[in-house]
Amino acid sequence: LEYSPLHINNIDSHANNLFPLCMLTLHKNMLRNSHLPHGARTQYAIFLKNAGMCYEDAMTYFQNSFSAKFDEEAFRKKRYFYYFSYCFGKEGRTVHFPESCDNIISRVLSTNDVHGCPFAHYDSNVLKACLEESSIQEISIRDILKAVSNQQYKVACSYYLHDKVGVSKVIAHPNSYYDIAIQHRGA
Ligand code: SF4
Repeated sequence: LEYSPLHINNIDSHANNLFPLCMLTLHKNMLRNSHLPHGARTQYAIFLKNAGMCYEDAMTYFQNSFSAKFDEEAFRKKRYFYYFSYCFGKEGRTVHFPESCDNIISRVLSTNDVHGCPFAHYDSNVLKACLEESSIQEISIRDILKAVSNQQYKVACSYYLHDKVGVSKVIAHPNSYYDIAIQHRGA
């Protein structure tokens, strides 16, 4: 199966097959809750921009995903439209850089935060269920959980990548994970 560059019509299959688990988690959270908390919105929008999604597609994706709770007017009124545009560099002058794995892994999460590293922040039973839901093979799940128990979270992520796309690389950044995944599955 080959993948074309990221756009509104293929984001679901890209998320499931080419996104690192931290970003797949944000995709699923947003679809499930029709919302994302503040920190997660920032992290996810900047990831998508750097993964090559165009501004128009991203805004449609966010707006559609929020639509069960916020119609177009509410989406603008709540300043979600402004904020996502800001992350895409369309508002304000700030250039936003996506965060490295080390930053995400060492983040201290509040109760409602979902923008951590699943390998570092999830309880092992929750992580196992999440890996099973992502169709990771049992043998890889064993390797991943072993790496996690040794606090080797980026190694766990590289096992996840290997299971998904069949290539072994050390992961240091969610966007480099995506770049490697799409290179090996075809763009
Ligand atoms: Fe995301 Fe990095 Fe954690 Fe992998 S190791 S899930 S890319 S934060």
